[in-house]
Amino acid sequence: MTELDLRLARRAAGSGDELSAILSSVNAPGMITFSGGFPAPDIFPADFVREQAVAELGGAAAVALQYTPTEGLASFRAVLASWVKESQGVAPDDLMVTSGGIEALQLICRTLLDPGDRVLVESPTYLGAITAFSGFEARIDVVAADHDGLDPDALAAALATGPAPKLLYVIPDFQNPTGAWLSTERRHALVALARRHGLLVVEDVAYRELGFAGEQRPSLYSLAPDVVVQVGTFSKILFPGVRLGWAAGPPALIPHLVRAKQNSDQCAGGFGQWLAESFLRDGRLEAQLARARAAYAARWAAMSAGLTTHLGPEFSWSEPRGGFFTWVTGPPGLDTATLLPRARECGVAFVPGAPFHAGRDVHHTLRLAFSATTPDEIAEGTRRLGLVLGADR
Ligand code: PMP
Repeated sequence: MTELDLRLARRAAGSGDELSAILSSVNAPGMITFSGGFPAPDIFPADFVREQAVAELGGAAAVALQYTPTEGLASFRAVLASWVKESQGVAPDDLMVTSGGIEALQLICRTLLDPGDRVLVESPTYLGAITAFSGFEARIDVVAADHDGLDPDALAAALATGPAPKLLYVIPDFQNPTGAWLSTERRHALVALARRHGLLVVEDVAYRELGFAGEQRPSLYSLAPDVVVQVGTFSKILFPGVRLGWAAGPPALIPHLVRAKQNSDQCAGGFGQWLAESFLRDGRLEAQLARARAAYAARWAAMSAGLTTHLGPEFSWSEPRGGFFTWVTGPPGLDTATLLPRARECGVAFVPGAPFHAGRDVHHTLRLAFSATTPDEIAEGTRRLGLVLGADR
């Protein structure tokens, strides 16, 4: 018998397993997990889902349990568009429903990227986006960023050299993984540069609504809907168990994304769209967001206190004003990936920073999520983390 000869496509060979490792760390017994960007399970609107399913599904089953149009249910798109208008002050020219934010990124890649095309990203940035871009064989170039987000001077320099990038990917609000919040001034500078260069900006607003104090800065999409496609998700504010997101952007682009979706899952689940539509239509989102902001603010306070108590002076970390993450930097020479076995023994999980750096050789960073653990667990988890990191001192 001839042995199976799996001749993997170039794009499948060499892709890492970091994301699966993060996803599988949820619910590991005895482990305090700071690894995944998971929302707090105790604020899932479970009562709403139960009541809605019991009381309302009967009359709505023909829609909620059926296939939907590729661009999403018209009634949900309308509710979603009016929420975007209300919260960002811009009525979307065109908007489609996706199966989570990550699918919107996939559709953008599928539509725009040929192998070797240049993509600009902040460094560090969201692993799922790096994986999506590299899965489409893009050349990823990094642009410097600090606690005020992407540096427009560095962007201008990146645009002045090399082939014109197909897109710039940016997470302006409470960034994954650093928690950085793009300043208002830089937002204006960034979209001005994009317009000058005819550059498409992919704005990922996954954490936008989760500022601890509820503050917001203008979305890039609201400043320049002509050159920005916004990728949003309900995963962080409602529930990731229903894979639901959106892409809002230039009317020249969205129909291409809809076409690409026909070559993907063809439509986002009707059940999730129906649930989210009912939730928004009933006006429940504001109270949900208020609950979420208070929970994450309390969790960050616990993590900040724990890190201050348990980490040595050679460690520093970002101070987010919203979202799920802080980004820890250790002494040069430290390789945080090598600490994982010891972390496992101590019952604490984190994500080593290297893969977030998009191919740059940086190993002394790590990401901590404070979103899915209670303040008490955070106190204990940071104590364990101190043991792990201290062992290398
Ligand atoms: N963007 C960012 C910045 C994220 O952190 C995540 C989830 N970790 C996503 C997009 C994707 O979320 P989902 O696919 O669950 O909507």
